[in-house]
Amino acid sequence: MIQLYIPLNFLGVLYREIKQSLTDLDKMFVLMERDREVADRPGAKPLSPQGDWAVRFDDVTFAYDPARIILHNVSFEIPAGKTVAVVGPSGSGKSTLARLLYRFYDVGVAGSGGIESGRITIAGEDIREVTQASVRQAIGIVPQDTVLFNDTVEYNIAYGKPGASREEVEEAAKAAHIHDFIESTPKGYQTMVGERGLKLSGGEKQRVAIARTLLKNPLILIFDEATSALDSANERAIQAEIKSVAQNKTTLVIAHRLSTVADAHQILVMDAGRIVERGTHAELLARGGRYADMWRLQQQSEQV
Ligand code: ADP
Ligand code: MG
Repeated sequence: MIQLYIPLNFLGVLYREIKQSLTDLDKMFVLMERDREVADRPGAKPLSPQGDWAVRFDDVTFAYDPARIILHNVSFEIPAGKTVAVVGPSGSGKSTLARLLYRFYDVGVAGSGGIESGRITIAGEDIREVTQASVRQAIGIVPQDTVLFNDTVEYNIAYGKPGASREEVEEAAKAAHIHDFIESTPKGYQTMVGERGLKLSGGEKQRVAIARTLLKNPLILIFDEATSALDSANERAIQAEIKSVAQNKTTLVIAHRLSTVADAHQILVMDAGRIVERGTHAELLARGGRYADMWRLQQQSEQV
């Protein structure tokens, strides 16, 4: 009986994988491409829900390709329930921080023969030592470029919380300011989206991803330039929603507009894979360094 159970269970998993891949081959392919980088340790346990949900980057060094180190000895902490913001020029490694925390990649330098690479912990546990699925379960991410499933809008939002009711889906869509748009499409929540369905603009896709994350309501949130494709009126409205869900959540927010993160617990300024300044908005302004320059430039461009 026991011997029979294991292969059957395995077949169940396999069946789900195949079903999923038929539902969405392209997306599966993208996920598999990425997941090849990350494998659970044999016997890895899920992230345990005890303790406080602080996130720590401890001397993290990372390279996609051993010939080029992208992050150099990055250390910071997001205390449980607080928000840390990351700013800095394009290419400085901000999204890489988000991808590592979500475990698209594991910390380290592949093929380097053991460069000391540090670690990322959630609630004190090294995320390489626990299952990838449990890490992702704990985190809601709004990535810089959202890829939607080739499925209905409803499926795409409800994906954040399997089994969510239609009311919950609509509530999240309203909070993400995408409900009216969805209702205006011929099939409403049953409209097919994605590469083979209705093509959504960058801003619409972002709002679907935000709705998914609001619905998931996880303990840890990552927003990677999550409102960069929105006009400023929509951006302000959705930032207010983001702020309210991020209340008491451990949040990493990567910002393109500094005014949206001025009240973060701590702001990190990245440049070429290093944290070059850190502090509160007021501290960084008083310091008169990189952040203060960026702030002045953005204030000027917003006034014209
Ligand atoms: P940011 O979000 O600050 O613009 P990223 O973290 O996306 O920066 O990228 C940091 C650096 O890593 C860039 O030089 C980028 O070209 C490189 N990079 C990003 N993703 C990959 C990848 N999948 N493979 C190789 N290099 C990458
Ligand atoms: Mg980025």
